[in-house]
Amino acid sequence: MTRDLELQLFERCPMLYRYRSDEGSANQHYMLDLGINCGDGWFPLILDVSVKIETLIEGMKQVGHQESLLPVALWVKEKYGGLLFDTDNSTDEIDRLVILAEDRSMAICAVCGDAGKLQGPYWSSCLCDSCQSLNDKTNRQGK
Ligand SMILES: [Zn+2]
Repeated sequence: MTRDLELQLFERCPMLYRYRSDEGSANQHYMLDLGINCGDGWFPLILDVSVKIETLIEGMKQVGHQESLLPVALWVKEKYGGLLFDTDNSTDEIDRLVILAEDRSMAICAVCGDAGKLQGPYWSSCLCDSCQSLNDKTNRQGK
């Protein structure tokens, strides 16, 4: 994902993404050094689930949960064509939101955000038909 979009996520959800690598804190987690590792097409989906989780975290903080034990994103990336959204200190409610987002990602083109489906010989990415044909062309030119 482009850095601009990543920063939008980090700024909108500072609690969820508090392990981000540019924080420079002792708390930083190496898994987010990679950033949000997927195509920009999933940005709206990831923003949506992140904001929902952030709201839950804010609620937990308000009722006195210890800050270091609040849910936090460990890694967000594409795996086998679907979204993998891994959190620490998760709750059942957050798990449900994450599973829903991961399911939805498998019908959204990771490049442009249109309706997509798992493509490629190993279901390696979720793309719409036009991004897939662009992909095919690029691959053929590379050979
Ligand atoms: Zn597409």
